[in-house]
Amino acid sequence: MALYSGHINKLIEELAALPGIGSKSAQRLAFHLINMPKDRVKRLTDAILDARENVRYCKECYTLTDSDVCPVCANRNRNHKMIMVVENTRDLAAYEKTGRYEGVYHVLHGAISPMLGIGPGDIRLKELIERLKGDVEEVIIATNSSLEGETTAMYISKMIKPTGIRVTRIASGVPVGGDLEYIDEVTLLRALEGRIEM
Ligand code: ZN
Repeated sequence: MALYSGHINKLIEELAALPGIGSKSAQRLAFHLINMPKDRVKRLTDAILDARENVRYCKECYTLTDSDVCPVCANRNRNHKMIMVVENTRDLAAYEKTGRYEGVYHVLHGAISPMLGIGPGDIRLKELIERLKGDVEEVIIATNSSLEGETTAMYISKMIKPTGIRVTRIASGVPVGGDLEYIDEVTLLRALEGRIEM
């Protein structure tokens, strides 16, 4: 690494710390950035800072959004008595892309993972319980089919059952360990339509 200037090394280091970027990609990106016109680099850094500073959590469902309440929660035509619980904003986007889900969402921002030391208190579960005090008829658990996703689904189901609110889980058929965002829309819709009681 001493082959490069300190500035380049720093840039490579920062890029390599991003998810999915190995040291080779980090080097390739770093040299690409250095060769880019300065105004384009500025547009990129401005976009990053802008997003970081202006994106916030929706007050109702906790997805990432530009306003206090996200467009889904703000839409009175959506069924607010049906809440789909997803692990992250990308999963929400995957279901929104199908254009067929009429309820609202709740974004946990993670899943319970004893192995990684992530407990129920580390994701947005308290907020979900709070929402259930309102008029809710069904909670659809759409966490991933990974070990963490299943653990979280079981936990939520046990938590909600005593309230009498209907709890369902999207059907399997979603590949195990598969992130929802990579699954095609037809599979997502089939999983939603074939959801089972928990
Ligand atoms: Zn929202």
